[in-house]
Amino acid sequence: MSDSCCLAPSPYPAAHHTLPQPSEGNSRPSLPTSAWTGTTTSRRTCPSKQSPSSLHLNTPSLPHPPPLHNTPKMAPLPPLPEVHRLSPTCIRLLAGNPSKFTLQGTNTYLVGTGPSRLLVDTGQGLPSWLAALRRTLAAENATVTSALLTHWHPDHVGGVADLLSACPDAQIYKHTPGPGQRPIVDGQRFTVEGATLTAVYTPGHTADHVVFVLGEEGAMFTGDNVLGHGTAVFEDLGVYLRSLERMAGLFEGVAYPGHGEVVEDGPGRVREYIRHRKMREEQVVKTMQGRNERGDGYWWTAMELVKVIYRDVPESLHGAAAAGVVQILRKLEKEGRVVVEGERWRLTDRSAL
Ligand SMILES: [Zn+2]
Repeated sequence: MSDSCCLAPSPYPAAHHTLPQPSEGNSRPSLPTSAWTGTTTSRRTCPSKQSPSSLHLNTPSLPHPPPLHNTPKMAPLPPLPEVHRLSPTCIRLLAGNPSKFTLQGTNTYLVGTGPSRLLVDTGQGLPSWLAALRRTLAAENATVTSALLTHWHPDHVGGVADLLSACPDAQIYKHTPGPGQRPIVDGQRFTVEGATLTAVYTPGHTADHVVFVLGEEGAMFTGDNVLGHGTAVFEDLGVYLRSLERMAGLFEGVAYPGHGEVVEDGPGRVREYIRHRKMREEQVVKTMQGRNERGDGYWWTAMELVKVIYRDVPESLHGAAAAGVVQILRKLEKEGRVVVEGERWRLTDRSAL
């Protein structure tokens, strides 16, 4: 499943997770590229030859969500050019795979200023990405010496073979490496002219997830732990939150996400993610402090909680919402704050939030 990695693969979380929260707004200023737009590779790469998939970026790649009463109208995703210089040391190349799960498509980043470059992620393996990579490397007179993979999902690792066809000497690095790949460990540094990336092991979205701090900019390549729009899905909420808290303290600049636009206030966005998760958790705990709607006690199923917390959301979306509630309940269970019997959950201490 190449497209199930980033956003929840169901209408409710997709709509919800990609909607800005009321406090988040949608006020991201335009990219800090004005100083470099004269050298954007996107201008060299012949807009008239854009593939249908990149033209498709001009339309929102999310489905039209059903109205959610407590959320603002979803702003359309801003279109992103297929290749774009984001800073003197960072060029973003889109993987050419826009979808409701991957936003404008998976981002890959070419990093450095000299003839040897680092590449963060490789996209999905689509011909348009390989063509864009070849054009960009030719224009930059550079080659990729190391590719750093943020996590195992196919839309991030699927272009490895294509990369090697263009740059046969490139080394492939990944936490929990596959055959022929080299490991990434926490704190490992990767240096090329103009850029030093430091790996940070940040499980959550997946167990093998890493992010990279770009020392020269105080920026972070956040992989799929933090996205350019909405919020991300995760495999383990407690682990994910710990990673987010660590990430927030490790940089002060922009976030270069695995999907979507650059986030100007990177640590601020990470803290918003943490607040959002805590708010959802508090909603669950507060609801469980009361009697269930059957009126027979304090044992709640995930779906019963959903029917209270998401009462304004169409019932057809409740199944998807319940999956997120189960994640919260599992975290609370690990913390000893709830117990479970069969499918029913109960607070161990109803007075504690
Ligand atoms: Zn992804």
